[in-house]
Amino acid sequence: MIAIYPGSFDPITLGHLDIIERGDRLFEKVIVAVLCNPSKSPIFSLEKRVAQISRCTQHLPNVEVASFTGLTTDYARQRNAGVLLRGLRVLSDFEKELQMAHTNKTLWDNIETVFLATSNEYSFLSSSVVKEIAKFGGSVDHLVPDNVAEDLYQWYKVHPPQISPPTTMSTPQPFIEG
Ligand code: ADP
Repeated sequence: MIAIYPGSFDPITLGHLDIIERGDRLFEKVIVAVLCNPSKSPIFSLEKRVAQISRCTQHLPNVEVASFTGLTTDYARQRNAGVLLRGLRVLSDFEKELQMAHTNKTLWDNIETVFLATSNEYSFLSSSVVKEIAKFGGSVDHLVPDNVAEDLYQWYKVHPPQISPPTTMSTPQPFIEG
């Protein structure tokens, strides 16, 4: 059985990698499919994200990294994949993921979504959290693969956050009616 693990991966985190490694033990092949979603504005290009994932999954010969656009079910059909692999962290993930799984089932009845519960140590981890930390100069070495940490430090060196100075409270003025 071939599984597709679709996502934005902007960028891939150790939480994603954990799902890929565990999926690799369950399925004949896992295709990590980076979604080209015009409604999101990722910091890393599609090509860069594919390269980042390829580098940190080199040790997994049955994992392929690709990109796609359009409906995930169309891509799954095209790749002859019967499973969509997704990760679950918190309750809010579940609501969104369940809705997506049901929707995908209406689009192609042969597709099954398989959820893997996050490993405890990554339950808080998301690409946005990682970007927020790196943006303000924090270390993300323990949260993303080494090559991705380097890319993030480099990105925020070139694109530092625009921080406006804190506004000082002016002396309160008496409220005059009328
Ligand atoms: P999307 O934009 O499709 O949500 P993401 O790259 O954010 O793409 O996530 C892809 C999948 O990986 C989703 O199923 C998400 O729930 C799962 N995921 C993200 N972070 C983690 C994590 N820390 N542990 C387990 N699963 C995760």
